[in-house]
Amino acid sequence: MKNTVIAVAIDGPAGAGKSTIARAAAEQLGFIYVDTGALYRTIGLAAHRRDIAGTDRVRIIQMLPEISVELVYQDGIQHVLLDGEDVSACIRTPQISVYASQVSSVPEVRAYLLDLQRQMARKSSIIMDGRDIGTVILPQAQVKIFLTASPEARAERRCAELREKGETVTIQEVLADIEARDEKDASRAVAPLKQAEDAVLLDTSALTLEESIAAVLQVIKTVTEGK
Ligand code: C5P
Repeated sequence: MKNTVIAVAIDGPAGAGKSTIARAAAEQLGFIYVDTGALYRTIGLAAHRRDIAGTDRVRIIQMLPEISVELVYQDGIQHVLLDGEDVSACIRTPQISVYASQVSSVPEVRAYLLDLQRQMARKSSIIMDGRDIGTVILPQAQVKIFLTASPEARAERRCAELREKGETVTIQEVLADIEARDEKDASRAVAPLKQAEDAVLLDTSALTLEESIAAVLQVIKTVTEGK
């Protein structure tokens, strides 16, 4: 691989395994992994803490200049800070997932987080995952992957992940949450979830985690070596 800064954009629906796969691939390549969902979750948490409904656009927009959201890395692991407090763990609840999805459809929220995401890609080689990385945030990314899996496969994985963290959830609840978020993410007016025209489509429904990581690494290798 050439000695230049490489940007890999991985987009796809909730629960496709983007973060686990992207994190592992980044580790193997020595790239920084940027989880952009954490940023929307942090804005959602900020709204929740202020008792602002995720759908209350006016108050969410008013809140933005009052908060600070930062990404910091410790031993290669991303931490997200809200007003200086590390909130990386408390943004991972189903309730905050709903808030994140709601606030992410507010154009001002997306604009607020745009520079932060682009700055990350200027500094070093990265794998950034989200919904609009290949289409809006990093349209010039050398590698774009649209990672997906069937809703059932995604619900099973997300359920296992949440149960590991001690959450008591059912497959039905998680599937309903995933389908609702897919619908909302794909139908919003600003930066909807969609595959970039130049993205490689990777369906991981029938793949193990190891096979999915290998497939992502293979796409990165093929695309970067061909450039
Ligand atoms: O990826 P994750 O599930 O943590 O993202 C939480 C929510 O944030 C998503 O459901 C989506 O609504 C929103 N999001 C987004 N754009 C991104 C990343 C996440 O709209 N780039």
